[in-house]
Amino acid sequence: MVEDLQFTNLESSPNPLRRGLPREKAVMPCVFVVFGGTGDLAHRKLLPALYHLYRGGLLPRKFAILSYASGDLTDDQYRESIQESIQNFAPSMSAEGNKWEGFAQLLHHCRRTSDVAESMQRLKKRLAEIDSSVRAEGNYLFYLAVPPSAFAATAKGLHDVGLAQDPEGRAWRRLIIEKPFGTDLQSARNLNRELQSIFREEQIYRIDHYWGKETVQNILVFRFANEFVEPLLNSTYVDHIQITVAENIGVEQRGKFYDVTGALRDMVQNHLLQVTALVCMEPPPSLDPEAVRDEKTKLLRSIRRIQPEDVTEVTVRGQYAPGVFLGERVKGYREEDDVAPDSDVETYVALKLNIDNRRWHGVPIYLRTGKRLAKRVSEVAVRLRNVPQMLFDDAQASEIQPNVISLQIQPDEGISVRFQAKVPGLTLNIRPVRMDFKYGAAFAPSAPEAYERLLLDAMLGDTSLYARDGFVEAAWELVDPIIEGWQLTKMPAHSYLPGSWGPKEADDMMARDGRRWRRL
Ligand code: NAP
Repeated sequence: MVEDLQFTNLESSPNPLRRGLPREKAVMPCVFVVFGGTGDLAHRKLLPALYHLYRGGLLPRKFAILSYASGDLTDDQYRESIQESIQNFAPSMSAEGNKWEGFAQLLHHCRRTSDVAESMQRLKKRLAEIDSSVRAEGNYLFYLAVPPSAFAATAKGLHDVGLAQDPEGRAWRRLIIEKPFGTDLQSARNLNRELQSIFREEQIYRIDHYWGKETVQNILVFRFANEFVEPLLNSTYVDHIQITVAENIGVEQRGKFYDVTGALRDMVQNHLLQVTALVCMEPPPSLDPEAVRDEKTKLLRSIRRIQPEDVTEVTVRGQYAPGVFLGERVKGYREEDDVAPDSDVETYVALKLNIDNRRWHGVPIYLRTGKRLAKRVSEVAVRLRNVPQMLFDDAQASEIQPNVISLQIQPDEGISVRFQAKVPGLTLNIRPVRMDFKYGAAFAPSAPEAYERLLLDAMLGDTSLYARDGFVEAAWELVDPIIEGWQLTKMPAHSYLPGSWGPKEADDMMARDGRRWRRL
């Protein structure tokens, strides 16, 4: 029997997604249309996330999911393929029994052919049938899990068959766009223009799953819900900030995409700049999505653009060489599938940024990200200044290390503070110690997956965690001159060993400022 979902006991539910979600914040009836429903993202992330939301009772009773892609699958075949994926990629969700049967009935598939107009008409017809059978009231969420080259054409296809807006103006239509959003400023502007000629800005949701991570959102809470944090975050107390997003894997199956993209576009333009914005922005006047998005965009616009002629001083490019990682021989980047054997694309990038505003004047922000590094870890480290006056003798003072507030985003989400303590004993010995808060230990239920939160928000019409047009363009405005400088100066990608922390030149960049990267 299909289980009947109820929106009850939201506050007392053990489901972390439900806790604190007000009753009126239930999702309205709708159809979730996945363009590219047979692709990797849909199978590994989107459908498992929707299934988890269903299991948590967060999807409305009047709801359906329609996949659109070229596979000639019946609804049942599509259901089986999704069941298999959930079993493979999210085994803890157990895709069987009543819950699975209930969810499976929500899934449908519509075939796409090379005749776009005819395919879109078929989609429209199918959507209308499903809508009238579940009574979705004409509310549609279109998720473009398709190659970026198909974003604009898909939006236009929706417009051409009259699906982009409700003709009666009563129902909502929303469009989620995957990353990457453009490959440079001009292409991002063009894409914004094309989408905005069809959808209003408030209908467009530019997704970056990093925003959905619990610890990224917690940066806001840590900063603005604690009186001791905010007074410290400025140039009086902070020496510098380091933001690291390190991966220990190589490019895996993404060689084709990566070899025309590189680490700067793939990671810095979106994830790292977003985290920078959250850590450094001014407090918004409210948590209204537009107020938060205004502050993030303002912060990006305050970052000094790196001039193309300065790239050799304040940026470093790296590329992983072949080597041994965790006892196994691993390929170098140039040996990876779909990568040119003489590729100069960077798999590592380090940058020094300056923010030209009163709060951060003179406080460098160092960003680094790379593949095949020593371990998978993402963190923000705020390194405070040295204590100004030394009460202690030289031997004692030599043990004193500056305070560091570090926010671990993954994998062991938490916050830690390094400070000095007296070693117990008859003499005055000082040693740095760490005070650790671990999410996993403090809060019993595990945090929701990033995609769950983001999909739920889009269905609820909450844009807070999605990027606005101005933010995306401001990010490209920072990245474009760096790429220009790399081309101008023919800056090489320095080789680094798998399992290391990147090329030596990145350490040199820090050493020139009298600083060091953190060893994580
Ligand atoms: P994928 O495995 O290649 O799947 C692409 C899907 O799009 C397939 O279902 C494909 O099916 C369909 N498709 C292709 N052209 C289409 C068109 N014109 N109209 C409708 N459907 C079309 O790619 P993916 O990894 O799932 O990535 C999808 C999007 O998500 C990309 O924009 C990617 O950059 C982004 N993304 C993916 C990940 C990830 O983890 N996979 C992470 C971040 C961002 P048919 O060709 O058979 O129709």
